[in-house]
Amino acid sequence: MKVRFLNLSVGDPAQKKEMINALDEVLTHGVLINGPELQAFEALIAETCSRKYAVGVNSGTDALFLALKCLDIGPGDEVITTSLSWIATANAIAMTGATPVFADIGDDLNIDPKSVKNLLSDKTKAILPVHYTGRICNMEKLLKIADSADVSLIEDAAQAFGAKRNEQAAGSFGALACFSFNAMKVFSSLGEAGAILTDKKEDVDRIESLRYNGTINKEVCIEPGLNARMDTIQAAFLLQKFKYVERIIHRRREIAAQYNELLKDIVDLPQEQPDEYNVYYTYTIQTDFRDELQSFLMSKGVETKIQHPFLMPEQPAYKEKSPSMTENAQRIVKRILCIPANEKTTDEEVEYVARQIKLFMEAQ
Ligand SMILES: *Cc1c(COP(=O)(O)O)cnc(C)c1O
Repeated sequence: MKVRFLNLSVGDPAQKKEMINALDEVLTHGVLINGPELQAFEALIAETCSRKYAVGVNSGTDALFLALKCLDIGPGDEVITTSLSWIATANAIAMTGATPVFADIGDDLNIDPKSVKNLLSDKTKAILPVHYTGRICNMEKLLKIADSADVSLIEDAAQAFGAKRNEQAAGSFGALACFSFNAMKVFSSLGEAGAILTDKKEDVDRIESLRYNGTINKEVCIEPGLNARMDTIQAAFLLQKFKYVERIIHRRREIAAQYNELLKDIVDLPQEQPDEYNVYYTYTIQTDFRDELQSFLMSKGVETKIQHPFLMPEQPAYKEKSPSMTENAQRIVKRILCIPANEKTTDEEVEYVARQIKLFMEAQ
């Protein structure tokens, strides 16, 4: 049996037809940038996440960068973020000229609020937690810390569209929140896309200017910016895809529940708590035999992934250049393994993968 980790082809004929129709409509009206689909998409995302506004941009990385710029974060400032994330999180901070400061993580793979508290300094301008694996951080504690230190909180919700904590949606906690709709994400475009959420109209104006070379009225440049606009066609695809998001999340949660049952007491599991509703961007298990298990699974036709094999502060770009606190993270990063758990994974595949893991672990 061959079990793919992820398969991005659009196999369902109805879905494929909808995508082609969406393309057809954009070709017909011809507003390829800032078209009506973009505005419809922004309104839909804002509403879904209980925010006043959403601004579409061309990637999650740009969403993070522009959110930080919107808060005037730059050289001399520090932004506290997690140690374990896709490197885009740290890069967005560093590209503003600010210094990323890397906090430790807990067993839930999310930033540890205690560590954040310990890393606060006079230079701290913001806290940038990542809802890793599609699981929302402990926002009660993080917001309290940000509040008492009088710093902003920006959510990196790139992996967590649709996730909830105490019934509250990912993207609705921070002053600003950033999403990615990159092709690999749970809610994905057919390429690159992202968005920033806020409740302030002045943030919208600033980000809309920054995403188009810092201009107002298209020609007058009031500050340096990027070209970071979302294509109308990606917004059109996302509007179609949105109809399936709930089903996608439901299926991912169903698979997680199956693994939870089949792998109980065999490896360490995500352990979703009663107040959490995780979307399982990845289903990440932990074991001391991670590398051996990954090789074994590969020999049995099972594709797995280590997301991510290096902590951000261990990357050459950041090593010894940024303050960090990584004791738990260093232990955990050697134990994590993402196993196939996307909406196309079948029950038979889940059972097969779980059986192989069980076989391997029993022999240890
Ligand atoms: C994917 C991702 C990003 C970057 O999003 P892109 O759209 O790929 O630029 C940022 N942070 C996290 C946690 C991500 O998973």
